[in-house]
Amino acid sequence: MDDCVFCKVIGGEFGTEFIYEDDVCVVFKDISPKDKTHLLIVPKSHISSIADMADADADTVSHLFMCARDVAKSLKLSGYRLQVNVGKDGGQEVFHLHVHLMSKFSS
Ligand code: AMP
Repeated sequence: MDDCVFCKVIGGEFGTEFIYEDDVCVVFKDISPKDKTHLLIVPKSHISSIADMADADADTVSHLFMCARDVAKSLKLSGYRLQVNVGKDGGQEVFHLHVHLMSKFSS
């Protein structure tokens, strides 16, 4: 998607450092952190939101949560929150699906 900020991040347009990357997703720091640790787990494929995901996207969405678990473990976070905002009225600002990983702890 040409006008999608996270597609641009994934394409390397902003030189964003990836904390983790695999075939399905990337993880990077939120540009405006709301907690000591605030990461975004973002699929490489453009899915605009949970509300618009296809049944065929279920494996990708599941992968995001497995990735959150593994990244949190690698950062030795003893506790954290996962948040997915859905739709404008649900607080979603970037319409490329992402999971927020937030913690009052940092590694
Ligand atoms: P949401 O409100 O769930 O759509 O969250 C979007 C998040 O993306 C916000 O917390 C923003 O601070 C973050 N964000 C927007 N642009 C960038 C960027 N270029 N790099 C990192 N985080 C970003």
